[in-house]
Amino acid sequence: MALSLEEGEERISTFVTMARKSGLRITPQRLEIFREVAFATEHPDVEAVFASVRTRMPTVSLDTVYRTLWWLKDSGLVSLIGAGKGGTRFDPNTKAHHHFVCLRCGSIQDFYDSCLDSLEIPTQAELLGAVQGVNVEVRGECKLCLAKAALEGA
Ligand SMILES: [Zn+2]
Ligand SMILES: [Zn+2]
Repeated sequence: MALSLEEGEERISTFVTMARKSGLRITPQRLEIFREVAFATEHPDVEAVFASVRTRMPTVSLDTVYRTLWWLKDSGLVSLIGAGKGGTRFDPNTKAHHHFVCLRCGSIQDFYDSCLDSLEIPTQAELLGAVQGVNVEVRGECKLCLAKAALEGA
């Protein structure tokens, strides 16, 4: 799902407002990282953000990207997907949404569904800890991978 320019700019201004409030210095590098994350629709990991920002700003360090992303996370401006060795990915979409995960290429795409948003929390889940939200993961093969497979099979 493509992100509108307006929506992206709105996210950036939220990031900047929050940074000002918490005394985080807004350097040109940080601003570029904000921009990258705000417009990201593919749920990038640290490396992906770093690679992309570096093409526009060669002096940026992985450490700066890493710390800026975690600052965004700690400020509640982006959420994390996954954990551990597989690599943490960042999600700038703060609206209630769910994910379509491609088992072939690993892409994660957002989708919206009001029924899933209002799912009742299973008692068993509540017994495991303090629930903060529900995110449904639908798994399969994405359209791009299906198209590729069809081409290869032809
Ligand atoms: Zn795929
Ligand atoms: Zn998402």
